[in-house]
Amino acid sequence: MQTHTYDVVIVGAGGAGMRAALESSKRARTAVLTKLYPTRSHTGAAQGGMCAALANVEEDNWEWHTFDTVKGGDYLVDQDAAEVMCKEAIDAVLDLEKMGLPFNRTPEGKIDQRRFGGHTRNHGEAAVRRSCFAADRTGHMILQTLYQNCVKQDVEFFNEFYVLDLIMTGSGEHRRTAGVVAYELASGEIHIFRAKSVVLATGGVGKVFKTTSNAHTLTGDGMGIAFRSGIPLEDMEFFQFHPTGLAGLGILLSEAARGEGGILRNSEGERFMERYAPTIKDLAPRDIVARSMANEVREGRGCGPNKDYVLLDLTHLEPAHIDAKLPDITEFARTYLGVEPYTEPVPVYPTAHYAMGGVPTNIEAEVLRDNTHVVPGLYAAGEVACVSVHGSNRLGTNSLLDINVFGRRAGIAAAEFAATAPLLDLPDTPEVATVELLESMRSRQDGERVATVRKALQETMDRNAQVFRTEGSLKQALSDIEGLKARYRNVSVQDKGQRFNTDLLEAVELGFLLDLAEVIVLGALERKESRGGHFREDYAHRDDVNFMRHTMAYREEGADGSAVRLDYKPVVQTRYEPMERKY
Ligand SMILES: Cc1cc2nc3c(=O)[nH]c(=O)nc-3n(C[C@H](O)[C@H](O)[C@H](O)COP(=O)(O)OP(=O)(O)OC[C@H]3O[C@@H](n4cnc5c(N)ncnc54)[C@H](O)[C@@H]3O)c2cc1C
Repeated sequence: MQTHTYDVVIVGAGGAGMRAALESSKRARTAVLTKLYPTRSHTGAAQGGMCAALANVEEDNWEWHTFDTVKGGDYLVDQDAAEVMCKEAIDAVLDLEKMGLPFNRTPEGKIDQRRFGGHTRNHGEAAVRRSCFAADRTGHMILQTLYQNCVKQDVEFFNEFYVLDLIMTGSGEHRRTAGVVAYELASGEIHIFRAKSVVLATGGVGKVFKTTSNAHTLTGDGMGIAFRSGIPLEDMEFFQFHPTGLAGLGILLSEAARGEGGILRNSEGERFMERYAPTIKDLAPRDIVARSMANEVREGRGCGPNKDYVLLDLTHLEPAHIDAKLPDITEFARTYLGVEPYTEPVPVYPTAHYAMGGVPTNIEAEVLRDNTHVVPGLYAAGEVACVSVHGSNRLGTNSLLDINVFGRRAGIAAAEFAATAPLLDLPDTPEVATVELLESMRSRQDGERVATVRKALQETMDRNAQVFRTEGSLKQALSDIEGLKARYRNVSVQDKGQRFNTDLLEAVELGFLLDLAEVIVLGALERKESRGGHFREDYAHRDDVNFMRHTMAYREEGADGSAVRLDYKPVVQTRYEPMERKY
């Protein structure tokens, strides 16, 4: 076992982690630990864009952007956080431009901007061009640009190091983070990283669902680790289902396709979004479009032999325009479905895409241990965190923005904290729980396979906790998860070796998925209303009297194991009164 000492440890090298590292490493001795090679992080898969009210092509301002974000999130957004994000958006884009990011340009040479769902002019008058982009590879360009700048700045990376635990010391208000426990994939060795501050930037948890746009590695590790360390999770029941996954596969076709003029049609050829959102139609926010699509299918207007998807029609767009603005995603349609988007509409259906909830933080990216108090020295940013700028439904292009704005804030805050904080003493054997967990799975013979349990989890989540939910479906999901947790205690791995044992790590990741699925479903069961990405058929309306509040889930240890306790936190409202959401 090796022990390393740093001022700041950042867990994750996606957009949030690397943006934090660029700030932190200028000010403090910083290490970035990542289970993937940095440029394989999911940020690199982001397609459509990153928004900021630059007003390069149409009149716009950050206040309209804030309003859209609050309304898009169905008023569960903390409005102070949304103001910070939308104001700082402009510099966040310009910073990336200065770092060398090759944005698409207007004929005059300004950063070009395109339309995206829910982004409007003057509080909903019409769609506005707010998303900055690099073709349909915006995330790829952000990730490469941040990585190159990290290399230039000599940021220290520990690649293929899996963080499996937070080291906590003290109790109550003195409870603090003293570092992390990590597992090195290449050797199987355990490493202790002591640090004055720790930044969680581990991304999302899409793999709780079967049909998802998320990479295989998005298993919610940071959320799971924080939760097991006694930190609550906020608003986990709000999961975004992106309308346009390739039917049957879930691979994402960016909303940019509709931003560039694509239209959704049902089996009758009807542009059905005109009925659901008469003003901005196909560019309504994702929750509304996903539900409308699912409804068309339910009412028998789905397409294909099983009438189980709708069509995304790009055939009226010029092929040259498609090639210039949407090259990658049209290639996905050709490769994975054998459909030619120039001449044929593409089969699409909602796919699990984004976790609005996560580790609760304030606008300084400090992690909260309850409704008001922070855990000193612990920070979170990006999809792992819930600050809450997305409320119950994130607007497209607001996540690439979130990771840059709050990644930057987390990096600065963590380094500033480390400048004055002492290095804490470590507990005697901080690695013990991790070693026991790994050894129990590695040594177990004849247990059930990890993949079987994971598949069963994903299937029940798709069936029972997806676009439409009811008390009955959620109770079914919960009892399935309980059963699967019991089976999980008996899983074993085939690979018993030390080196590159991904089999073993997938078993650990499944443990996080099970814990988090339970929190998602419990939150959804107790939230007896419909808001944003959470739609209850048995409570089809938003209920501000009882549910205009964030869910806070705590893990409590009892004599017969752990249980989840739900509590609530008020929503921060500044200037926008909740209204009925119409588009
Ligand atoms: C297909 C797709 C398209 C998207 N398109 C857009 C878009 O156009 N616009 C937009 O705004 N948003 C988009 N999103 C959402 C957005 O890309 C993500 O929410 C965002 O990039 C998340 O960034 P992150 O830095 O938080 O996490 P990630 O980029 O997922 O990075 C997570 C990092 O954490 C590390 N990590 C995880 N667990 C551990 C562990 N246990 N130990 C060590 N390291 C760990 C990983 O190695 C990785 O480096 C898209 C998402 C997907 C899936």
